[in-house]
Amino acid sequence: MIGIADISANDLIRKALEEFGRGFAIATSFQDEGMVLVDMALRISLETRVLTVDTGRLPAATLDMIGIVEQHYGMRVEVARPEAGEVAAMTSRFGMDLFREDTAFRRLCCEVRKVRPLAAIADVRAWAFGLRRGQSESRRDIAQVEEYEGRLKLHPLAAWSKNEVADYVREHAVPRHPLYAAGYATIGCDPCTRAVHAGEDERAGRWWWEQDADKECGIHFSPDGHAERRLDVLLSEVLAAR
Ligand code: SF4
Repeated sequence: MIGIADISANDLIRKALEEFGRGFAIATSFQDEGMVLVDMALRISLETRVLTVDTGRLPAATLDMIGIVEQHYGMRVEVARPEAGEVAAMTSRFGMDLFREDTAFRRLCCEVRKVRPLAAIADVRAWAFGLRRGQSESRRDIAQVEEYEGRLKLHPLAAWSKNEVADYVREHAVPRHPLYAAGYATIGCDPCTRAVHAGEDERAGRWWWEQDADKECGIHFSPDGHAERRLDVLLSEVLAAR
């Protein structure tokens, strides 16, 4: 799959299902892009795995989406959670809201609460995420298929525009996260996401206090050497304190 030129999102999902079956999963936080993938994949096969991570800091409306999606499609969403000992070690050492401290602490929180719970799902060989190249500078060059820590990471909507996503959602009556109606352009953890103002960039509602980072959580980001070393040090402190 790696190296193939962009193909349609539907074809890529179909190929992934044929090749990996239950070893393929859609990972979503129920934003429109993720929901397009969920809808497309479940139209191909109701056996498609849909996974989300309950970080422990999600807005109530995101948790409500789990039930909404299950009822709409007649399937179960798999919910991954961070390891309780790691969260306790991190928050007792660095505080509940450590992510306000600086970018390294924010990435540590994302690592413990989001990245590691997904990585721990050992039987997934290929993931699909709803990233688009048009969402931000840091996503401008994403490949539709890439390898990440021994698994495939698929971005079926890499070439899609925001309008194409909106059209699909409308035409297929895809369930929408309620926070869009409150002015959110992107939806993540409660303390790290806010509504955006007119004219602001789509990603401006995430970690808005950071000026020096590319607003990615680690699932979609390869830190530079310095950031990676600092994250490694902080993470090893947390893991040692479990
Ligand atoms: Fe922690 Fe915020 Fe990342 Fe959620 S988005 S895991 S609260 S830093």
